[in-house]
Amino acid sequence: HAGLAEADPDVFACVQKERERQSDKLQMIASENVVSQAVLEAQGSVLTNKYAEGYPGKRYYGGCEHVDGVETLAQQRAKELFQCCWANVQPHSGAQANQAVMLALLEPGDVVLGMSLAAGGHLTHGAGPNLSGKWFKAVQYGVREDTNLIDYQEVEQLAKTHKPKLIIAGGSAYARIIDFKRFREIADAVGAVLLVDMAHFAGLVAGGSYPSPFPHAHVVTSTTHKVLRGPRGGLILSNDEELGKKINSAVFPGLQGGPLMHVIAAKAVSFREALKPSFRQYAHAVVRNAKTLAKELEEGGLKMVSGGTDSHLILVDLRPKGLTGKVAEASLERAGITCNKNAIPFDPEKPFVTSGIRLGTPTLTSRGMGSQEMSLVGQLIVRVLDGLAANGPEGNKDVEEEVREHVKLLCQRFPVYPM
Ligand code: PLP
Repeated sequence: HAGLAEADPDVFACVQKERERQSDKLQMIASENVVSQAVLEAQGSVLTNKYAEGYPGKRYYGGCEHVDGVETLAQQRAKELFQCCWANVQPHSGAQANQAVMLALLEPGDVVLGMSLAAGGHLTHGAGPNLSGKWFKAVQYGVREDTNLIDYQEVEQLAKTHKPKLIIAGGSAYARIIDFKRFREIADAVGAVLLVDMAHFAGLVAGGSYPSPFPHAHVVTSTTHKVLRGPRGGLILSNDEELGKKINSAVFPGLQGGPLMHVIAAKAVSFREALKPSFRQYAHAVVRNAKTLAKELEEGGLKMVSGGTDSHLILVDLRPKGLTGKVAEASLERAGITCNKNAIPFDPEKPFVTSGIRLGTPTLTSRGMGSQEMSLVGQLIVRVLDGLAANGPEGNKDVEEEVREHVKLLCQRFPVYPM
């Protein structure tokens, strides 16, 4: 059999280019990371050939004895990692993990209470264009205007008024620790199920640098990529076996057909990595780096939404420099720093323009960068943004090129994969 380079030079060239891009730019998208060679290998394995509808020991296909072993390992490791008694490792993505919980617990038209996208929540938590907003009666909470922290009083008030069946805590652009205990009290007061979607901070929970949603959450969903540093995929956890049975049926046959066994193998590998003491060090370094970066940006005249971070991400308010997220993202990209524009709470700009950028430290930390490098990266970001503020939307080409050179050197010092 020919390898990819020979069999399909066009796809191979795209893969090579992507490898180069990941290697010689600073990847600061908060939801991305770089997985180990072992995770890549598991995902690229012959397990991609196997159909295995059902669950270990109860499949609808023959020849599942080896993939049963892989899925059982993934389940056991997930339970050990997050200290709970039930796990489903089959969801193809974080979005499907959330859908499975809704399919298991709700009827169309039921009330769901989640954080609004505009305040930092996720699409699947009840946003209008998403299934969660279309098929359910979605009520949305936000953050306080003065602190940009979750407005727990508002959550309580909305819960009492609308009596949701499901309350969702978690988000995609919320940098602070979430008070899971408070959420559970609110859920209990109205008889709701509490779902914590820990997709963004699951790796920090695994590494002991962010509070665990257990014992407060009835059910927890996650992605396995992001800080957790596994393959792209979803995960559902609980301590309630009965609830677990319902969710198993919702994942398969409710929502999905055959599980992606190669991805489940890669999940198992990444969970093993996350159980090692070195992952604890990694998770702590991720948060330390985010705090260092936030401080440097603040010294450079930028404003951090909610005043800083407790996690792997920061949401930067660009208004003190008169910039939008759209132009900032483009100029930083030209300088070799990849991030995403992001709405800030109460953003006066349109969602495609925004007043903010979201920055994360998982990838740079995986590459081995520490506080010194974070300070340098913060200074480079400020230089690009100052150049942009002085020169208008086209940016300052000289500054961008100069920063690009610094970025290249930094990337050479902290390689991702052997090229
Ligand atoms: N939940 C949260 C909080 C997320 O941030 C994301 C993705 O960014 C998801 C769910 C969805 O994950 P996926 O992209 O794997 O569907």
